[in-house]
Amino acid sequence: MAVILLMILLTGCSPSQIEYEGEVSGNTFAGMEKEPVISYEMPAASPAILINQYGYINESSKVAIFKGSEMPEEFYVVQEDTGERVYTGYLENKGYNEKSQEYNCYGDFSGVSQPGTYYIEAPILGRSYSFKIGEDLYGQALNEACRQFYYSRCGMTLTKEFAGEEAHNACHTGKARFREEAEAFDGAGGWHQTKEGSREAEWAARNIGAMLFAYELYGEAFGDDTGIPESGNNIPDVLDEIRYETDWLLKMQNEQTGAVYAGITVCERDRGMGIISYVEPEDIRSSKAFAMALAKFSYLYQDYDAEYAGLCLRAAENAWRYVKRNDTAPADSLKFAAAAELYRASGRGSFHRIVLEYLEEGSYKDGMDEIDFLGCAAYISTSRQVELTYCAEIAEVILTKAEEISKETRGSIYRTAGENHQKLLLDMMYLTTADYMITNREYKNIIENHFHYFMGRNEMGINFADTEIMRQLDMDSKLIVMLSEMAFFAK
Ligand SMILES: [Zn+2]
Repeated sequence: MAVILLMILLTGCSPSQIEYEGEVSGNTFAGMEKEPVISYEMPAASPAILINQYGYINESSKVAIFKGSEMPEEFYVVQEDTGERVYTGYLENKGYNEKSQEYNCYGDFSGVSQPGTYYIEAPILGRSYSFKIGEDLYGQALNEACRQFYYSRCGMTLTKEFAGEEAHNACHTGKARFREEAEAFDGAGGWHQTKEGSREAEWAARNIGAMLFAYELYGEAFGDDTGIPESGNNIPDVLDEIRYETDWLLKMQNEQTGAVYAGITVCERDRGMGIISYVEPEDIRSSKAFAMALAKFSYLYQDYDAEYAGLCLRAAENAWRYVKRNDTAPADSLKFAAAAELYRASGRGSFHRIVLEYLEEGSYKDGMDEIDFLGCAAYISTSRQVELTYCAEIAEVILTKAEEISKETRGSIYRTAGENHQKLLLDMMYLTTADYMITNREYKNIIENHFHYFMGRNEMGINFADTEIMRQLDMDSKLIVMLSEMAFFAK
């Protein structure tokens, strides 16, 4: 259905001022935000030769970035186990970077395609981290990023078999307390958001949203064999992982009122008295986010477990009723996305009216956050009745922005649209969505360059799919959106 709708949009209402290359593949969509405080530990030796530390697939284009106050002429690709130089390349495009006061060069080693583990070395600069060349590396990077959520599961024992070094006993199983009352509450479960084990409902809902967004676009990239306990149950592991989180979210709802508690805060007590967990008061934002995530999950999970999907939808509607009773402000992106998901899942006209009000008001056109992406994606892909004018406008906003991002990358050292990680992840939601709609070789290249950036070809030489870094990034599942596209096309 999404395919047909987009065909109409691109041929019929035709966003005429948009130029794009490539054929129309039909399809449609997109996102989340929050600026995390990231305190990077600089790697012991800040590498002067930057590569994708995860690796490169055999036939891909492979480019290393070199930086330093002095530049050699050549570089070598060395096979790690034998120490043999398998390739000699020459540094190109030497440019002086005023900001960092050093030279930047590129070294192309696309000619190396034999599977194996390698590093790059060069006179003056030393050697890079090791990296792999192989076949399904992009799929492995996606699985690894998804597994970070499994490692963060609260309230259950993670065994060495599945979690390796992240194994731990069931945690935070004691009752959580309301701050002002004596009542206790079972709040165990879900994914740890912080090192201490605190968990916010809105954070959970945003991550669920972005992961499901990736799953809707590039479902085939997600397997049932990623090595979590549920693997092999004929349900994609990403849905199993999300269900672990929705189970917890359901606990966080006050069934009588529909309201959703903002989360569980875990505090250390003084003098070795152990830890104490508090339930944070219910609020409107958490309830909107809850409605959005549960309605979206219900829609995508119904083929696997109709009963559970029904339960999620009823819980989402219950949260919505609480929002409706208590929220008199004009619709914001969370309310819009919740209404769009509920409309897609239930078809009710009252949800459609909220969606239309928000689209009519049009503030999303000045810049979509990830939640706007989710709402737009749900609306544009539903088989319910829609206003085609608004669908065309959404497509136009996404495609126009994709062109702007594409222009921004030109002339950039890292071949990215800047160096602000949150912005880049959101940019990749635009590009993945645009590429899904119109299939564009240039967009794929740009996304791949951002993938290299996040996997180590960045100013700090850091691999963002690494457990510690992913936590510091606030476990941002927008990364999974980008990885799913890479994995999908590498298949
Ligand atoms: Zn825990």
